[in-house]
Amino acid sequence: MSTTPSWVPEWEDLAAADPEIAEIADREAARLAAGLQLIASENHASPAVRAALASPLSMKYAEGFVGQRFYPGCEHVDRAEELAVQRARNLFGAEHANVQSHSGTSANLAVYAAFAKPDDPVMALSLAHGGHLTHGARISFSGAWFTPVPYEVDQASERIDYEAVREIARIHAPRIIVCGGTSYPRNIDYQVFREIADEIEAILWVDAAHIMGLVAGGAVPDPVPFADVVTTTTHKTLRGPRGGMILCRNEHARAIDRAVFPFSQSGPAMHAIAAKAVALREASLPAFTDYARGMVENAQALAEALAGHGARIVTGGTDTHMVVADLQPLGVDGARAEELCASAGIYLNKSAIPFDPLPPRAPSGIRVGTAALTTQGFGPADMAEVAGLIARACRGEDPGRIAADVAGLVARYPAFPAGHAEPGGRDRGSRIRRGGSSA
Ligand SMILES: *Cc1c(COP(=O)(O)O)cnc(C)c1O
Repeated sequence: MSTTPSWVPEWEDLAAADPEIAEIADREAARLAAGLQLIASENHASPAVRAALASPLSMKYAEGFVGQRFYPGCEHVDRAEELAVQRARNLFGAEHANVQSHSGTSANLAVYAAFAKPDDPVMALSLAHGGHLTHGARISFSGAWFTPVPYEVDQASERIDYEAVREIARIHAPRIIVCGGTSYPRNIDYQVFREIADEIEAILWVDAAHIMGLVAGGAVPDPVPFADVVTTTTHKTLRGPRGGMILCRNEHARAIDRAVFPFSQSGPAMHAIAAKAVALREASLPAFTDYARGMVENAQALAEALAGHGARIVTGGTDTHMVVADLQPLGVDGARAEELCASAGIYLNKSAIPFDPLPPRAPSGIRVGTAALTTQGFGPADMAEVAGLIARACRGEDPGRIAADVAGLVARYPAFPAGHAEPGGRDRGSRIRRGGSSA
C-alpha cells in the first residue's frame, strides 16, 4: 500500500473535533521529546506500532481464538492474531503463545487462574526487594486471594539468595514459584529455579515483563526453555503497544487460553494484537539485537557514571536495561531526587533498595532504565552526561539551568524525528513516510 488509505485517521480529525484532547496529546509529545525518559518501564513505540493502534482493527469484537470466534466477520483479525502468535512463538522459541492479555497484570492474573486455587501458596520475590505488585502484595489481588510466600535477596550481594529460595520452597511447597521482578537489575539463574520447582513439583513462572526485549535481542539469558510459563508486557523493552503476552509449554496451552478467555477477559483488543505483531516483527530484525545490547551497555555506563558521582549502585552494577541506585551517600532520598529531576525534565522514579532503612514513600533509591533513550539513539558516552545531569539535580542546582542542558542533549537524539522517521534513525528499520512511498 503506497498511498494513505481513507481509513487512516488524520491529526486534524482530532484537533478539530476535540481541541482539548488534541492539545493534551500535543503537550505530552512535547514533554516526551524535551525530557530525558529514564523510567525503566517506558519506551518509544515505533510509528508502525502506533499506526496499527490507530487502525480499524480496534472496532472488531472477536471473543474467542483464531478460527473459533463468537462473532462473524473475524477473517481479517484472525489473520492478525495468527501472525502475532506465530511471530511470538518463532521469536522466543515457545511452544504456545497467547497474545490477548490487555496488560502485564492481566497476563499475570490469567497465570494465577490457570494454576492456583484461592488461598494456594505462591512464592515470589518480595515487593520490597524488587518484586511486582502482582507477585503477592497484600494490596493486589495476588496477595488478597492467594497466600504470598515471599523470598528476598541476600543482604551482602543484594542478589537473589538461591539457597534461601530452596529452603522456603521446601517448607511451604508453593503451587507456583515466580521469578522475575520490576526492579531487580541482575540476570536470574533459571536453571536453579527449575531444579527447585521440580523438587517440589511447582509450576515455574517467569515474569519477564521488563526484560523480554532483552531476551528477544539475545542480551540476557532466555527463560523460555526453563519455565512452564512466561509472562511479559509488550510495551517495556519489547517496544510494542501497551499490552501483555503469555508464552507456555503445550501441556499448559489449554489452561492458559481458558484462563485468559473466558475466565478473566472477554473481547480481545485486536488493534493491540496487530500492533504486537508489528513489534514482534521489529524485534526479530537484526537491528533489534543491537538495540538490546545497546540498552545493556548504556545501563552499565550509566551505573558506572552514577557511581562516579557518589551513588551506591545496588548489586554493584547491572546485567539489564535497569539500574537501581542508593542515593544515601548523596544525602537525598529517592522521592526528593525524583522531584528534583522531574523539575529539570529528567524522568526517573524513586525506588526502595533491599533492606531499605527508609519508608516506601520516601525510600533510599531511584530506578533508571535505558529503553527509551537507547531507542532515541543515545550511546554509552552520552550516559556520562545523563548521570552528570541527575547528580546536579540531586545536589539541588537550579532546575532551569539543568533543563537547558537536557534540551541540548535531547536535541541530538529526537524522540519524534521529522518526516515520521523512527527515533534512533538507522537502528529502526524501514522509514516509511505517511502518504508517500516506502524508501
Ligand atoms: C510492569 C510489570 C507488570 C505489569 O504490567 P502492566 O502492564 O503495568 O500491568 C507485571 N510484572 C512485572 C514484573 C512488571 O515489571
